[in-house]
Amino acid sequence: MLTSIAGRSVIVTGASKGIGKGIARVFAAKGARVLVIARDLAQAEATAAELRAGGATANAFAADVSRAEDNARMARAAMELYGGIDILCCNAGIYPSANLFELTEATWDQVMDVNLKGTFLSVHACLPALKTCGKGRIVVTSSITGPITGNAGWSHYGASKAGQLGFIRTAAIELAPHNITVNAVLPGNIATDGLEDLGPEYIARMTAAIPARRLGSVEDVAYAALFLASDEAGYITGQTIVVDGGQVLPESQASLADLYQAP
Ligand code: NAP
Repeated sequence: MLTSIAGRSVIVTGASKGIGKGIARVFAAKGARVLVIARDLAQAEATAAELRAGGATANAFAADVSRAEDNARMARAAMELYGGIDILCCNAGIYPSANLFELTEATWDQVMDVNLKGTFLSVHACLPALKTCGKGRIVVTSSITGPITGNAGWSHYGASKAGQLGFIRTAAIELAPHNITVNAVLPGNIATDGLEDLGPEYIARMTAAIPARRLGSVEDVAYAALFLASDEAGYITGQTIVVDGGQVLPESQASLADLYQAP
């Protein structure tokens, strides 16, 4: 049993759906007060309403993490609503596919702005409050793509996700004197709206490449984030937890297929 996070003030970016919504749901179920962030306020509000219906304290706030002023407003909203910020989950991210021959500068910039600059801007905006709280926690949603694997169509995305790890390693050092930890979860293929959009063929291919032979659930990722946000994880910083059902492990896909054919 981890020390309760009941009453902690948590910001989850990209929380109106997918992994972020899973993180918001798990943290809210543990009694945290959760600020649900997305660009689409109606969708964020629908998620917050679901959490409140389950008995949680939750509010929605519209912010685009790639914009400094939105991150500042987001941090102010958490201060006004909950009196501080204890945990920041930088989860908002996009993954439009484009191979190198068709990848445009605009798409590259968009992915970097949301995934990498957005992480920096959210952290930067919340730092004063995280420092004040005395045991701040930052949990970044990175990916296996980039930090560990390559995946055709996602060079820009992989660069942004690997960049997040470069960021947290130095952030962890600089924030240690303030008792703030900075860690990342690295999901494999998780069943979310965003992944659904990539189509059934992509999902079938990925499922076949996972030793567990199933996509991850958003809760699989959320519980790893919950651990990294706990008091008990206070001596862990600048580190990563891979949540992928073993997807990065096989040296050959053929041996994986054999495994499932064996009696
Ligand atoms: P998703 O289902 O598409 O949900 C994305 C969430 O982020 C939505 O709430 C979306 O709401 C929000 N968002 C997008 N751009 C934003 C912006 N500029 N500012 C604020 N919020 C924004 O995505 P997901 O699959 O859950 O992915 C979430 C994170 O996990 C991403 O960082 C992704 O890279 C990472 N990840 C996902 C997987 C996977 O298999 N699903 C695997 C590895 C890593 P709005 O559109 O309303 O803003």
